Amino acid sequence: MRLEISGVSRRYGRTPALENVSLSLFPGEILAVLGDSGCGKSTLLRLVAGLETPDAGEIHIDGRRVAGRGGSEPPDTRGVGLMFQDYALFPHLTVLANVRFGLNHLSSRQARAVALERLAEVGLAGREESYPATLSGGEAQRVALARALAPRPRVLLLDEPFSNLDAGTRERVRADTLAVLRQDGISAILVTHDAAEAVEFADRIALMRKGRLIQCDTAEALYRAPVSPFAARALGDVVTVAGIAAGGRLTTPLGTIPLPSSAPDGAVQVCLRPEAIRIVRRGEGVPGQVLRRSFAGASSRIDIEVPGLDAPLRLTAAQDAITGDSVELGLVEGGILVFPESERA
Ligand code: ADP
Repeated sequence: MRLEISGVSRRYGRTPALENVSLSLFPGEILAVLGDSGCGKSTLLRLVAGLETPDAGEIHIDGRRVAGRGGSEPPDTRGVGLMFQDYALFPHLTVLANVRFGLNHLSSRQARAVALERLAEVGLAGREESYPATLSGGEAQRVALARALAPRPRVLLLDEPFSNLDAGTRERVRADTLAVLRQDGISAILVTHDAAEAVEFADRIALMRKGRLIQCDTAEALYRAPVSPFAARALGDVVTVAGIAAGGRLTTPLGTIPLPSSAPDGAVQVCLRPEAIRIVRRGEGVPGQVLRRSFAGASSRIDIEVPGLDAPLRLTAAQDAITGDSVELGLVEGGILVFPESERA
C-alpha cells in the first residue's frame, strides 16, 4: 500500500484546518502525525478515510485517486481501517459480533473464522462471547484493533487510540498493537500529541502546526536536524539563547565555538540540547547556580540559572551537583542548533 497526500487543504468556515499538506506513506510504514490540539491531525485522517473531502489537493492510494479533482471515493471502498480514541464498540453485541461487523462480504463461516483469528492475534482468544461492558479498557481497545484489522485494510488510521488508557495499560496495548501491525506489514498513520509515543511507535514523524506540515522525517533526523526552533522543541528539551554568527564562529553567552551548521552572519537563535552543555572546571566557563536536580536514571537532569539568560539552562550530567551549588558551564559539540533570528515557526 502506498498513500500519497498531495497539496491538501481543508477549511471549516473561516478556519483553515489544513493548508497545503503533502505526505507519503510507504508500504508497511508507520507514520505518526504529531502536533498540538487543533493543528489539523484528525482532519487529515478524516480526509484519508473519506469521511470528508478536501477543498484542494488530491489523495492517492496505490496510484488510484480517491479524493481530489473529479470527486471522492466513498470510505468503504478505500481499504482504510479506522481506530479512534473512544473505540465505540457496540455494547449490545458480543466481542465476536463486534469484530465480525465489517465482514458482511464474507460467508458467515468465513467471517467467524477471520474474527476468531484476529481476536487470537490481539490476545483475546476465549473472550469472544463476552460483552464490551465486561472488558477492561485495554481489552476493549484490543477488540477495537481486531475489528479494525478484520477486513484486512490496506492502511490503518489510528486517532489517539491509546490516550484513554492508564499509563501501564497504554504501554502494553501500544506495544501489542505495534507488534500486530509489524507482523502483518500493515501501513498505519497514528495521530498523537505525545512526542514520546510518536518516537516509540513510528518509522517517521510528520510534525504539524496550525494546519501546516512543519517537517516529516525519522525521529533521529527531527532531533538532530530540526528545521526550526519549534521543531527542535517538539522532540526533546532545548533552551534557546541569543547568539551571533560571524566568520564561521558562533558567539553565545556560554562562549565562542566553531559554527556547528551553516548560518548567515548576524544575529541567530541558538537552541541548546541538554547534551550540548557541560559543567566545566572553575575558571574555564560561565558561572551559574544549580536551581534543581532531578533523578533521570544513570544521569541527572540539572537546571542551572545563569545571570543574564531568560530561562535556566538544562543539562544532563553524571556529575553530582547540589541545589544551590555554584558551577561553571561550557559548550561541547553536538546538540547545538542554529537558526536565523527571524525564524519563528
Ligand atoms: P487536531 O486533531 O489536531 O486536534 P482537528 O483536525 O480536529 O485538530 O481540527 C483542526 C481545526 O479545525 C481546529 O481549529 C478545529 O476547531 C477545526 N475543526 C475541526 N473540525 C471541525 C468542524 N467539523 N467544524 C468546524 N471546525 C472544525
